[in-house]
Amino acid sequence: MVHYGAMTSDILDRAAAAIDGNVMFEPDGRPFGLGLPSDGLGSSHRLRDGVTMIESFAHVHLVETDSAAVVFDSSVPDLGPRVAERIRAGTGTPVSHVVLTHGHRDHAGGAGALIAGLTGVGTRPRLVGHQSLPARMARYRMTDGYNQVVNQRQFGRVPNWDLAGGWAFEVPDLDVTFSDRLQLDAGGLEIELRHVRAETDDHLWAWIPERRVAVTGDLMLWHFPNAGNPAKAQRYPLEWAAALRDIAAAGPELLLPGHGLPIGGSERIRRVLLDTAAVLEELTGLTLDLMNRGAGLDDVLAEARLAGERIRRPYLAPTYDEPEFVVRNVWRLYGGWYDGTPSNLKPARQAAVASELAGLAGGSLALARRAEALAAAGQLAVACHLIDMAAAADPDSATVHGIRADVYWQRRAEQQSVMAAAIYESAARESAATAGVDLPPGA
Ligand SMILES: [Zn+2]
Repeated sequence: MVHYGAMTSDILDRAAAAIDGNVMFEPDGRPFGLGLPSDGLGSSHRLRDGVTMIESFAHVHLVETDSAAVVFDSSVPDLGPRVAERIRAGTGTPVSHVVLTHGHRDHAGGAGALIAGLTGVGTRPRLVGHQSLPARMARYRMTDGYNQVVNQRQFGRVPNWDLAGGWAFEVPDLDVTFSDRLQLDAGGLEIELRHVRAETDDHLWAWIPERRVAVTGDLMLWHFPNAGNPAKAQRYPLEWAAALRDIAAAGPELLLPGHGLPIGGSERIRRVLLDTAAVLEELTGLTLDLMNRGAGLDDVLAEARLAGERIRRPYLAPTYDEPEFVVRNVWRLYGGWYDGTPSNLKPARQAAVASELAGLAGGSLALARRAEALAAAGQLAVACHLIDMAAAADPDSATVHGIRADVYWQRRAEQQSVMAAAIYESAARESAATAGVDLPPGA
């Protein structure tokens, strides 16, 4: 067995300390000790014999036997070649399979380069993924412009996420696909793959019974589950929760997630998995209950709120996605896009409504000034509605856009989630550009 990288299983200790001590963040704001270098590829961590995590956005995991190795995920397109180099430098064991947990760019994007880089004389790793993964790639090609816009907003500052060439990426044809379950044999090591619709419709998790290791992709993120993402396709919170319960029932002693720290210790892992399942089930239940009683989306968003302390645990912090977005996702999944407000069924243009309101208020600037006052009083949500109305009524006004930039910059500052902050920040930047003003320091 070849060992590579430092013996840095201290990241398991860090995970244990964060979970057991309920520590939300490190003082420097890095997510639990994993600060990626500017080139996006971090350290290799040998977690135990034959199990190595290569830190990246998303991580790559390597599980070895004496005669074969299996790689889980491939990082982003740009890093695929370097991940392959890192693996080749670290082990002489031939890689029999590269398993993609799902078709997101940070997990599957490096697959082509990785397969090429790991192919030795007469041996080419087999690429394994769920049967729905190719349809995802086709969708990315259909929606490339859209994805560039929304992902530039969401990931524009992540290293190695240069999206100038587009969002779509190529994944080689899968050598092995499956529908529900697949058993792989890697040098005598049994690996069970299970499909679940969760963050994506092509997601899988892997269970290695002999090692008691679970590889979970994005089912576990060290953030509130990404089950609500405002600009992305449908997510499946209840199926996700059921998979988390299945993983817990399998009884892993080591959990290898796609992002954040690996977790050791069966009781600790169980708590994390079941807590995450519970928040997804609770939000779904609350939303369905209100929907079944005839509530409109406005009431559902106000009333479907998680109770208790779970949201304040380090592995459930709403720092990426957030519960309110999950509620909307549940509404879309079981209901539709109609929100229950009849004027929204076939709405007038926003500019037409905004002009009427601006007229009543005494002009677009009056609306904007009221927005400014509300923002100063801490009522940022209402302020955002009014400032959007003012800008829609008077789209060329530098004064209105100057106020709008300021209101959205304040709104951004109060966000905990990357997704909300990124959207508000882009609104502030658009208006600052229209107004010809600078955003405050820190922008
Ligand atoms: Zn991911």
